[in-house]
Amino acid sequence: MNFCGKTAVVTGGSRGLGRAISLELAKGGANVVLCYAGNESAAEETVQSCEALGGKALAIRCDVSQSDEVKALMDAALTAFGRIDILVNNAGITRDALLMTMKEADFDAVTATNLKGTFLCMKAVARQMMRQKYGRIVNLSSVVGLHGNAGQVNYAASKAGVIGMTKSLAKELASRNVTVNAVAPGFIDTDMTAALPEAAKTAMLSAIPVGRAGRTEDVARAVAFLAGDETGYITGQVLSVDGGMSM
Ligand code: NDP
Repeated sequence: MNFCGKTAVVTGGSRGLGRAISLELAKGGANVVLCYAGNESAAEETVQSCEALGGKALAIRCDVSQSDEVKALMDAALTAFGRIDILVNNAGITRDALLMTMKEADFDAVTATNLKGTFLCMKAVARQMMRQKYGRIVNLSSVVGLHGNAGQVNYAASKAGVIGMTKSLAKELASRNVTVNAVAPGFIDTDMTAALPEAAKTAMLSAIPVGRAGRTEDVARAVAFLAGDETGYITGQVLSVDGGMSM
C-alpha cells in the first residue's frame, strides 16, 4: 500500500494492534503520530521501528477519554506534518466481570476509553478532513461488539457503540471524500488477550475455523486496506478479521 505524503494518527500505538498498524502504515510511507496512555518506552520503540522503515514518527502521551488531551494530540500532528489524512481509533481497554459483580467504575472506564475516546478523536479531526476533502477513519470494534460475550457487558456496549458511531459519521462525511469504517477483530494474540484465563483462551481458539489465534499483522493489513486511497468507495462498513469466528 502506498501512503507516501499521508499523515496517520494511531491511538494506542505503543503496543499490540496499534503498534502493528503504525508499522504497516509506516511501511507504506506514512508519517505516523501515535499516542499512548502511559507506556512511554513501548511507544518510543514503535517510533524507532517506524523510522527504521524510512518514515517519520512521533509519540505523544494522550488519554483519549480527555478532550483537552485529544485536542493537543491532533494539534501536535498538524504542527509536525501539516495535515491528518488517516485516523485509526485503536486505543482500548477491558475490565471484565459478570454484570452482577461489574463495578460502575469499570463500566465508565471502558466506555470512556473505547467509546468516548473514539468520539473525541473523530470530532477532533472531522473539520480538518472535511476542509481538505480527504480522510480515512478506521475504528477498532470487536467480534464482541457484534455478538456479545458473557463477562464483557461494558466492553460489548463500547464496541457495539463504535459500530453505530462509524455508520453515522460515514453518512455525515461521505460527500466530502471522508470514509469511516470499522474493523472487528476476533481473538488476536496481544497483551489484552494474554491476560485472559487459560480456559477462556482454549474455548475461543476452538471457535475459530481457521484454527489459530489472529496475528497483529492480520488486523493491521485490514486497517491499511481501509485507510488506503483506493478504497474511497467503501464506507460505513464493518470488516471482521477473525478467522471465521463470527460466521
Ligand atoms: P493492548 O492492551 O495490547 O494495547 C492497548 C493500547 O491502547 C496500548 O497502546 C495502550 O497504551 C493504549 N491505551 C489504553 N488506554 C488508553 C487511553 N485511555 N488513551 C490512549 N491510549 C490508551 O490492546 P490490543 O492491541 O489487543 O487492542 C487494540 C484494540 O483492538 C482495542 O481497541 C481492542 O479493544 C481491540 N480488539 C482487540 C482484540 C484482541 O484480540 N486483542 C480483539 C478485538 C478488538 P499504553 O501502552 O501506554 O498502556
